[in-house]
Amino acid sequence: MKVICILCDEPFTPTKSQARKIIKHPHKIQICDACHDRITAKVNMHRMEKT
Ligand SMILES: [Zn+2]
Repeated sequence: MKVICILCDEPFTPTKSQARKIIKHPHKIQICDACHDRITAKVNMHRMEKT
């Protein structure tokens, strides 16, 4: 199973739990691990700036 990441346009193989989510919600956008990590890091940085 291959999914295209909406952020970097790279195909990636989802983990088992990701694949389950994709099957349940096939219309949801998918983000690869690398982009997910980047977003999480950004969000955490914003949180630190605010507090
Ligand atoms: Zn990506």
